[in-house]
Order: sequence, then C-alpha cells, then structure tokens
Amino acid sequence: TAMAIPPLALRRFAPVGFTNLLVFFVVTLLLSSSGGGGTSRCCHAFSASHYRLHSPVQIPVGLPPAVGTSFTASRTTRGNRRRVRVSVSSWMSSSNDSGSEDIESAKPQQFYDAIVCGGGPAGLLAAIMLAQKAEQQQEKKDSYTYSIAVCERRPMVPPSPWDTALWESDVARFYLLGMGHRGQGALKQFGLYDEFCQASVAVNGRRDWAPGKTAIDDGKITPANKEVTSRVLAREKLVGLLHQIICKRYSDHVHLLYGYQVEPVDFGLSSNDDPVSVLISKCDLSDTSTSNTSTSTSTSKSVSDPVCDGDSLQLTKTNFLLAADGSAQTVATVMEHQDKENKNQNKSHNKQPLFRVTRFDDDNPRVYKSVPIQLPSDWPCDLNYSARSTQDSRIILEALPSDEKGNMCALLLMKPNDELAQPNVDPQRLWDFFDQEFPQFGPLITQQDMAKVAQKPASTLPSFRYVGPRLSMGHRTLILGDAAHTVKPYFGLGANSALEDVQILSDCLDESSKATANNNPKDAIPKAVELFSKQRSADAKALVTISRNMDRPGKLFYVYFLIPLILDSLFHKMAPRIFGPNMFGMFQKEGMG
Ligand SMILES: Cc1cc2nc3c(=O)[nH]c(=O)nc-3n(C[C@H](O)[C@H](O)[C@H](O)COP(=O)(O)OP(=O)(O)OC[C@H]3O[C@@H](n4cnc5c(N)ncnc54)[C@H](O)[C@@H]3O)c2cc1C
Repeated sequence: TAMAIPPLALRRFAPVGFTNLLVFFVVTLLLSSSGGGGTSRCCHAFSASHYRLHSPVQIPVGLPPAVGTSFTASRTTRGNRRRVRVSVSSWMSSSNDSGSEDIESAKPQQFYDAIVCGGGPAGLLAAIMLAQKAEQQQEKKDSYTYSIAVCERRPMVPPSPWDTALWESDVARFYLLGMGHRGQGALKQFGLYDEFCQASVAVNGRRDWAPGKTAIDDGKITPANKEVTSRVLAREKLVGLLHQIICKRYSDHVHLLYGYQVEPVDFGLSSNDDPVSVLISKCDLSDTSTSNTSTSTSTSKSVSDPVCDGDSLQLTKTNFLLAADGSAQTVATVMEHQDKENKNQNKSHNKQPLFRVTRFDDDNPRVYKSVPIQLPSDWPCDLNYSARSTQDSRIILEALPSDEKGNMCALLLMKPNDELAQPNVDPQRLWDFFDQEFPQFGPLITQQDMAKVAQKPASTLPSFRYVGPRLSMGHRTLILGDAAHTVKPYFGLGANSALEDVQILSDCLDESSKATANNNPKDAIPKAVELFSKQRSADAKALVTISRNMDRPGKLFYVYFLIPLILDSLFHKMAPRIFGPNMFGMFQKEGMG
C-alpha cells in the first residue's frame, strides 16, 4: 500500500522562501504516484467549480483535539455476557469524575483464547477481526468456541456514535481523526464501512491562508484530488462505533472489560504451545488528577488517567496476547525489560537482537488547544481550514468539520512556552491575537468559547516512538497500533496505520491457517505472529523515523530529511541495483505498508 504523506503538511513546518518551494516541489513529485485505490461510496461532493482552484495535490487531513465538558445524562448499555451500566455523566460532566462508580464489577475469566490489551481503535477492530474468524469457523463446525477479552483500563464504556446531544454539545471536546484510504480500506475489509460513513464527515479539500494573508478572499481552496475521499470523526466516536458493533454482533465471542489493565508476566517462551500469562487489575479514575496528556482521549478532567489497584490482581492465561495499548506501551515496556533480563541471564531462547522501544527526544515540541468554530453559511463545510501566524509560524490553526452543519473543531498548535498555551490566559490576549493574526476566524468564535479556550491548559502530543526489531515476543504476543509506532498527528497517519495493522494481521492469520489442519486459526497463531512481525516491523520504524525527520526544527529538517531524500533518489536512479529507493519509494513498493 502506498503511504500518502501529504506534501502540504511540509509547508506548515518548513521556512518560507525558495527552499520551501523546493521542498514542496520535490516531495510532491516523489509522492505523485502515491494514493488510494477504489472509490468512495459515500462522499459529500465538494463543488470545486464554485471556488478558486489550485494544483490538484493530495490534501492532508489535519489533526484536531479535545476538551471541555457540559451537561449530564445517564443511560444503560447491555451486552450479552455482562451487563455494564455506565453513567454518561462520566463523559459529559466535569462535576462528576467518578464514572467508574456505575460500572458493575465484571470478573475476568481465567483463560481466553485471545486477550486484547487496550480498547482503542486498533484493539476493538482486532477483536472484531478475531470474532469474524471465529464465526467463520463456527459455520464449519458448530462446537467451535473462541473467547476474546478486550481489556480497557479506562473505566468508561465508550459513548454511542449516534448520541447527537453528546456530539453536538461541545464539538471541540474530542479530537478528530482524518481517515484516509488506508484506514477506510481496513474498515471496508471487515464490513464496517457503511456505518463508518454514517458516523463520519467527508473532507473534500483544504482552504489555507498563507501567513500575513488574512482577508477572507485570501483563503485558497485546493480540492482534494483523491480516489478515496478522506473522512473525519472523533476518535471517541470511532471507538464508540466499534464498541457498539461488538455489543450488537459479536458479544458471543467478545468479553468487554472496561476499567481493567493488563500487564504480561510470562510470555510462554519455552515452547510453541505455552500460553501467555497476564495480570489483570481493576482500575478507577483518580478524583484528584487533572491529567492532560497525549494518552488522554479528551483533555477534560472527567477522563483523567485511571489508577489501577495492585491488590485486585487476577492471573489469566491466553493463547494470543495482542498489545494495542497505545502510547502507554505497557506490554512493550515489559517485553523490553524481560528481553534484557533474559539476555543478561543467558536465558534467551533465540539469537534475535534485543527488543527495544526507541524513544526520540522531542526537539520540536508543540502543544494544542482546541476551539469550536461555526462557519458562515457561505463557506463550504467539507474542507480542512488552515492558517499560520506570522513570526516563524508561532501558532498554526487547523480546523476539521465535526458535522455537515458548519461546526468545526479547530486546533491551535503552539510551542509549550507560548503565553497563549498557558492555562488561565486573559481572554483579551487571545482576542488580540486573533484580531491580529487570524481575523478571518475571530468572528466565528463565541465570547464564551474564547473564554473557555483561554482558561484551559494546553494538551500535549505524543512523542515519536517505535518498537523493534520485531513486534512480537515468543510465539503468542504481538504489538500493534500506536503501541508499535507512535507519531505526532501532523500527518494523519497514526489511526490509519493502526487499523491497517489489523488488516495485515488478518491476512497473516489467513495465510498461516492454510497450513494448519482444518484451516483452524487457533493453530495458526505462532506462524501468523512471525509473519506479521516480519512484514510490519520495518514499516513501524519507517513510519516513525520519516515522520520524525519531517518534524525536525529548522536546519535539522534539511539535514535529516530533505538531503538524504534527494541523495537516496539520485543514487537509486544512477545505480538501482546497489542503492535502494528513497524512503517514499520504499513505501510505494507493492507490499509495503
Ligand atoms: C490530537 C490528535 C489528533 C490526531 N489525528 C489523527 C488523524 O487525523 N489521523 C490519524 O490517523 N491519527 C490521528 N491521531 C492519532 C490516533 O489518535 C492514534 O494513532 C490512534 O488512536 C491509535 O489507536 P490505538 O488503538 O493504537 O491506540 P489508542 O487510541 O491510544 O488506544 C489505546 C488504548 O489502550 C488503553 N490502555 C493503555 N494501556 C493499557 C493497559 N495496560 N491495559 C488496558 N488498556 C490499556 C488506553 O487507555 C487506550 O484507550 C491523532 C492523535 C491526536 C492526539
């Protein structure tokens, strides 16, 4: 699959001038063959002819975030295996932080065929994928059973994607994900595309204001020229959708455990057949924390980081541990530690290089505050709006549509030490900034919302990390999603890659099952683990290192990204047998991620 790193994204970080044009030109050329396959069945058409047109390049679907709280409500959700009652107030009210109080205690079993650690997009889609394979087996053999546990440490059932009161109450509360052809392709493969389209909004291009150009007419529209229309939805909405699908269709196989943390204790390294052992502990929300970290899916106080109870440990065994625990990387950290220890004690069962988590220093840190924006009726609702302030792009504004009614969730990206990134800023300072730098957007924000933005603290972004040189431990543990490759969200790659991981794992399971008696996926796990790790570990490294090099500040960007890119390309052209293609070329090769 070709990886579409958007060339316009570069423009937001590179210095202005000739070199900037050069960057844009080179990368646009290199990427000209990348893009999606197939056509979108559900796009909301953007009529390009009504607007000023520019060169048809790939449009990056930007970032947006989260924050804020509003009113309370309550509701009961029912799954087949266990009843979970959750107070929606845990999502919607800042005055009630104890959403966990209403979740009935559900005890994990002592054994599951598969345990998914993490109930984010990757974890829930992986559970659906495994449940679908179990159903296919059941069609062949009635007595076939397969139990899957999804453990999510946040003690809150995800909100319904159809709860309009929640989604319309504060559009800047949850950050938005732009899903391109890779993420959509994965959802399509598992038959979830139509529901995804209903829950998401199409983005048919970008409207961008260059620094210092602030008149409304200065906003240049570039229509997206893609076979697959990018679509946007809140991460929580995607999670809510996948959760609802599991409850409705796969509750016979999937046991959803909210408020449970997983920690591996034994990877079953002695033989192919040894199960993995994990400790599962109960988690609650701390009532004092005002956590505001990248791992939070919303920055509101009500979804602060959970605290897990070390006394409530349950030992559970499984034949397949899928670590989809995001940037927390709990499983990867244990793997790293254990691999090192095994090596020190000479207990290593193979001669593979040490497993490690590569954590990059963030030399270009940015934080963000989210702002709700209501577009005027004559502005198109299906665009990604963006603008950069003068003074070395001090603040970048990126806005994506939350719905088709002109409600946008904008993100203000700032340096952490910027005065406007601090909590409790004087709202007048923020108004002054908008008047000077983004006057086209100021009138679209209400007094009340501007005051809220000024008051709240900024949210941090995850830093670049990847695991390797393999994505597995033993024969039955795999890492996928952000847990394997964490990137800053500038290039809209994280969730897309996470969902694509599940698609690739599904293919690996199918391929490995063919070699087993009765095509039984249960017997295919060791082989599939090996295959997936081989196919995907180089991609995880490339995804993170390329994204990180594009994010280097000032001259480092040229040293670590642009010059190697040009040299690789030249050398490959001169002597293709000796020098491999540059990193973009690698991504465009068939079979690469
Ligand atoms: C502001 C922002 C904007 C973004 N925009 C985009 C975009 O436009 N396009 C895009 O593709 N990506 C985007 N991303 C990235 C995207 O959100 C992530 O890549 C995606 O959520 C990864 O999914 P995941 O399931 O792998 O991990 P996560 O979403 O992080 O989910 C992991 C889950 O595991 C749980 N967990 C952690 N440890 C444990 C444990 N030990 N036991 C049990 N549960 C555990 C966590 O609570 C969490 O719910 C954005 C991210 C941010 C912050």
